[in-house]
Amino acid sequence: MQADPQAQRRLLELVAVDTQVAQLTHRRTNLPENAELADLRARHTEASRALVAAETRLSDAQREVQRVESDLVPARERLARDRDRADTGVVSDPKALRSLLEEIEHLGGRIATLEDQELEHLQEVEDATADRDHIAAARDAVTARAREVIARRDQQLGEIDAQLQVAQQARASLVGELPGDLVALYDRISGRVGGPGAAELRAKRCLGCLLEINAADLRRFAAAAPDEVIRCEECDRILVRTPESGLS
Ligand SMILES: [Zn+2]
Repeated sequence: MQADPQAQRRLLELVAVDTQVAQLTHRRTNLPENAELADLRARHTEASRALVAAETRLSDAQREVQRVESDLVPARERLARDRDRADTGVVSDPKALRSLLEEIEHLGGRIATLEDQELEHLQEVEDATADRDHIAAARDAVTARAREVIARRDQQLGEIDAQLQVAQQARASLVGELPGDLVALYDRISGRVGGPGAAELRAKRCLGCLLEINAADLRRFAAAAPDEVIRCEECDRILVRTPESGLS
């Protein structure tokens, strides 16, 4: 292929703008905020799961308190009634009185046991409530932190996108000024090498693959007409000749 040497030289401007676009695109997808957000999302999910567990434990403990309380109320009423009967002396039969006193003793023991259980469950309620409040506060902190990170990420994305737009406009106007077949070749090579499709030939070295050009190729390049498009034998990129190329 042949192309005006000046146009070939300007491919280096295209290389610069494409390098900038690649760097901006890389920055866009690798913002540290994205990694932090993924971590915060995982922590939020984990806190939500822990919150459900703590709430379940709390409602279980509350139900146990109610259950014990519902056993305590009739036991206390019955004890009060029995004591009344024992105190007022309405039970005169010694056998009946003895059985009444036995029941009072038994009820006293049962109530003491139930009260112990109730205390235990009340302690569970207190612990589970503290646990739930602690987890809820931690989750709220994660949410607040995520809001901050999202705001910072969006600001960075906005800045990067603005720079990308400027670079892409610069590329479009540059491409408009270069020969179509030269740009098409450049783009084809870019797609193949996964980077800019041209490189400067500087000091006998291809700045695309950084390899030194062998003596035979150097002689061939030196003999080539200025408008002939030459290519690196190693990486296939278009080689752009400059006064610093080392061709004599
Ligand atoms: Zn090369």
